[in-house]
Order: sequence, then structure tokens, then C-alpha cells
Amino acid sequence: MAGIAIRFYYQQKNRLERYNRTKLLMDTVVDVKVYSRDSQHAEKAVNLAFERGEFLAENVFDYDNENSELAHLNRNAGKTGKRVSPELLEVLEMGVELSEKTNGAFDVTTGALKKLWNFEEKPFRIPASDSIQNALRYVNYNFIKIYGDSVFIEKKGTIVDLGAIAKGYIADEMLKILNEHHVEKALVNAGGEVALYNFTNSRQWGVAVQHPRKPDEPLTIIDLGNGAVATSGDYERFFVKNEKRYHHILNPKTGYPADSLISVTILSENAALADMLSTAVFVLGEKEGLEFIENYENCQAILVSHTGKVIYTEDINRPNLRFALDSLSIEENF
Ligand code: AMP
Ligand code: MG
Repeated sequence: MAGIAIRFYYQQKNRLERYNRTKLLMDTVVDVKVYSRDSQHAEKAVNLAFERGEFLAENVFDYDNENSELAHLNRNAGKTGKRVSPELLEVLEMGVELSEKTNGAFDVTTGALKKLWNFEEKPFRIPASDSIQNALRYVNYNFIKIYGDSVFIEKKGTIVDLGAIAKGYIADEMLKILNEHHVEKALVNAGGEVALYNFTNSRQWGVAVQHPRKPDEPLTIIDLGNGAVATSGDYERFFVKNEKRYHHILNPKTGYPADSLISVTILSENAALADMLSTAVFVLGEKEGLEFIENYENCQAILVSHTGKVIYTEDINRPNLRFALDSLSIEENF
């Protein structure tokens, strides 16, 4: 599930002590690493950060939990509008805005399609094409109406799915708690979406981006002090049938997995943005995705095409990349 792995190298020069905790939230491994002069204080702050993460995962964004806010909203589709929490409102607004900007390549209403493909449960199978066409009738971000802090999903059967943003948002929110508690350095890795602050931008440690076809090798290692990195890849949840890979990032125009790119990494100032942009660029594909992200302020990207070409945005900070390959050998395309 982890889109990228983290490598940490740290030499203890001052008296900062490292404290590390990992937990499963919403089927996602969430890893927190902090450095602090006061280990008891750090432990308390990490507890509070996990409380916040747990609350958001279970009570707000997990639509499989029938008591979550999102499940409630989805159940009321076609019936009635609901007041939503500031957190759900913020993420929905971000998601709808990106859905508009990408003309629906990114779309926060892919839930019906996701349920049909069901990459979570075996036996995996390719849905019948008429089932896909039917599911697509429920996919359209224009069905979401936002009035102040109330949200109404116009079409019964439409399922809002925030899987492309929630992990990044949770990473940001957990990091905020650590910062508010004055933890000196902190990093949150929510299933591969990473947010961090106050790491010295040095060669002593780095964020490793997973190679899309070799799980134990990095595509690159990024030296990053502050900000966020997120990766979307076709290797996270997938199955292979008839020598073709089918994975969880779906093209809302066709109802099938997007197949131009195999990995997209975004660097930006916060993880929610990096998370949703990596999914959006993945669906837009090599040409349109690159153009889109080149024109997006304050974000850099690394794209890998299905042929193995590695593409870097012009503004990427090359010295921060330990190595920058131009191509990967993709022996087979599944
Ligand atoms: P990520 O791993 O961040 O790229 O997010 C993938 C998840 O986003 C999927 O598991 C779905 O929940 C959701 N998703 C899939 N396709 C799309 C899409 N075209 N637009 C928005 N969300 C999507
Ligand atoms: Mg994403």
C-alpha cells in the first residue's frame, strides 16, 4: 500500500532524541517520526497527533464506516443536503476545485466505479463493459452542490470518494498538531504521502520515492527539509489479467484505469495538495499532465511513463535529487 518508502539517516549531533510510532489508520500504515529534546513531551504530542488522525480517518473520511460523516453524506445522495464539518468541507472544496480545473480527469465522485472494480477484495475481475457504463452515470463532480457549510449530492447512487486526498490531508493535520506542540522536527508518512518540517536539507537522510517496478529500489531519493511529497502509482493496488495491469487510479472518461503514466510524484508545500495533484496528473497522462503541473504554481513533479521514460518538471530542484535517471527498463507492461 505504501506508495513510497522512507529512508532516514540521522547523525545525532545535538541532544535531539528520536521517537517513532506506526499505526494502521483506514487500512493505511501511518508512520510518525519526531525529534525532540523532551521525550515525554514528544510522546504526548505524538499521541495527540494520532488521536487527530484516527478521528479524521474513521469519523470523517472512511465511507466504509457507516457512522462516518462521508458515509452519511453519501447515504443522503438524492434526498437531502447535510451540514458538514469544516474538515470535510475543506477537502470537498479542494477536490471539487481540482475536478473543475482538470475537466473531470480528477473527480471526487468515482466511488461507484471504485466499488465496481473493487481492488480491495479477491477474486479480482474486469467488470462487464455495460456495468462500467452504468457506474459512469453516477460519476460527475457537478452532482455535488455546496451551499455555505451544507452539501447536497444531487444524484442518488453517486458516491463521493476522497481516497485521492484524505491521506495527504490527514498527514498535514497530524503534522500541525506536532508543530503546535513545538516538537522540534517532525515527519508524518500516511501510506506514502509525506509531510515534514525542520529537517536539515542535508545528505544525512532523504525521502525515497519507490521505483514503480522494483519495490526494493528507489526511483530517487529527495533531500527535503520542509513541505510534502506524494506519489501515485499503478503498483499500489492492482491485478493482472491477460498480460495487462488493472489498477486503482481510474479515468472517469472511460471507466478504466488510466494507462499513460505508471508513477507520478509531486513535491509541494502541503501533503493534501501533493496527494490530489499526483492522482490528477496520473489520470491526465504524460502530455496533458506535464503541461498541467508545469503551469501549477509552487509544485514540482517526477513522472514515469508506461514506456519507462522519467520526466522532471523544469523547476525541480535537481541538486535535491540524489540521482535522476532518464529512463527505467520496463520489461513487461504489467
Ligand atoms: P492515490 O493513491 O492518492 O493516487 O489515490 C487513489 C485513490 O483515489 C483511489 O483508490 C480512489 O479512491 C481515488 N480515485 C481513483 N481514480 C480517481 C480519479 N480519477 N479522481 C479522483 N480520485 C480517484
Ligand atoms: Mg493522491
